[in-house]
Amino acid sequence: MATDYYAVLGVRRDASQDEIKKAFRRLARELHPDVNPDPKTQERFKEINAAYEVLSDPQKKQVYDLGGDPLSASGGGGAGGFGQGGFGNFSDIMDAFFGTASQRGPRSRTRRGQDAMIRLEIDLNEAAFGTTKDIQVDTAVVCTTCSGEGAAPGTSAQTCDMCRGRGEVSQVTRSFLGQVMTSRPCPQCQGFGTVVPTPCPECAGDGRIRSRRTLTVKIPAGVDNGTRIQLAGEGEVGPGGGPAGDLYVEIHEVPHAVFQRRGDDLHCTVTLPMTAASLGTKVPLETLDGMADIDIRPGTQSGQSIPLHQHGITHLRGGGRGDLIVHVEVLTPMKMDVEQERLMRDLAKLRGEERPTGQFQPGQQGLFSRLKDAFNGR
Ligand SMILES: [Zn+2]
Ligand SMILES: [Zn+2]
Repeated sequence: MATDYYAVLGVRRDASQDEIKKAFRRLARELHPDVNPDPKTQERFKEINAAYEVLSDPQKKQVYDLGGDPLSASGGGGAGGFGQGGFGNFSDIMDAFFGTASQRGPRSRTRRGQDAMIRLEIDLNEAAFGTTKDIQVDTAVVCTTCSGEGAAPGTSAQTCDMCRGRGEVSQVTRSFLGQVMTSRPCPQCQGFGTVVPTPCPECAGDGRIRSRRTLTVKIPAGVDNGTRIQLAGEGEVGPGGGPAGDLYVEIHEVPHAVFQRRGDDLHCTVTLPMTAASLGTKVPLETLDGMADIDIRPGTQSGQSIPLHQHGITHLRGGGRGDLIVHVEVLTPMKMDVEQERLMRDLAKLRGEERPTGQFQPGQQGLFSRLKDAFNGR
C-alpha cells in the first residue's frame, strides 16, 4: 500500500470519525494559511487532504481498510489538489472549519475565501525608513473561463432532480423503534441543490484556479519582526468564485551585521585600546544615515555608552526616531614588550598607583547603573 493515511493524520487505526476530524482540522489550520509557493508545504497539505478524503468517507475508508486505494480507483477524485483543477475536497475543509455540513437546506456554491499569509524578509535599513516590495503570491483566483460559475461556457447549473433543489434526501427506515426518518446530504449534488452537467474544463467546476501573481506592497517605516500588513481582498478566492479573503504579509527582519535592535533603538559595541579611551579620539561609524564620527572623550570608561539621538528606527506611530547607542569596551593591554612594560610602570609610579587598594562595592552596582543609563538613552 502506497500511503498510510492513518499515519498522515497521526491517528490510530481504530480512531473514531470525531478523532479523525479533529486531527484533520488541526493539521489543516497549521498548513493551509501559508500560500507561500513552497512545494513541501503544498505537498503536505495535499497528503492530509487525501488522507481525510478517504478516512472521513465510510465507503472509501472501508475500501482502504481492506487494502485498496479508493483515490486511485476512482480516477483521482479530489486528491489531485492544487494546480490540476482538483479542489474536490475544499468543501470538506470548509465543513471542518465551520460545520456547514449539519446546516439545513441547500448549501451555497459560493463562499468567502480564506485569509492567507506570506512571510517577507527585509533588512534593517528597510525597516528604519520603509520601502516598497514586489512579492509573489500563489492563491486561488476567479476562473476567467466561467467567471466563477463553474459551468462550461454556454451551459449552466441545473436544479438537482434527485432532491429537487432541497440539497438533502430523506429516507424512512424500519428499526426496533418503529419508522425512523433520516435526512442526509443529497449524494447526487453533494447538498448544493444544483448540479453542473458540464463542468468548466478550466477549473473542473470549482469556479477558481490557482494562480501566481506579483503584488506590490508598501512597507511603512518602523515595522518590526512579526508585524503583519493586511491587504484586503488579496487572499484566497472562495469556492464558486466567492469573495477573496485577506492577505497578511508578515515581516521578518534579517539581523544586521553591526546593530542590534531593541524596540526602536539600535545598539552596538566599539572596542578601543586603553590608551585611546584615556586620551580621547574619534572613531568613524557607518550609521543608517551615513558615516558619523563617534566622539570618545578623554577618560572614557569601559561599559560607558554614547547615544546618537534620532539615529535609530523611525517610530511606526507618531513620527520621530529612536536612538543609536554605542557601548564602549576598553581593552587592557595583555602582551607587552620590555619597553612597554617599563613605560607602564613609570606611569603607575607617576600616578601613585604602584600599590592600589581598590574600591569595593556590594554586587555589580557600577556596571549595572551604567547599563541602565544606556537603556534609558542617557
Ligand atoms: Zn471555470
Ligand atoms: Zn440533489
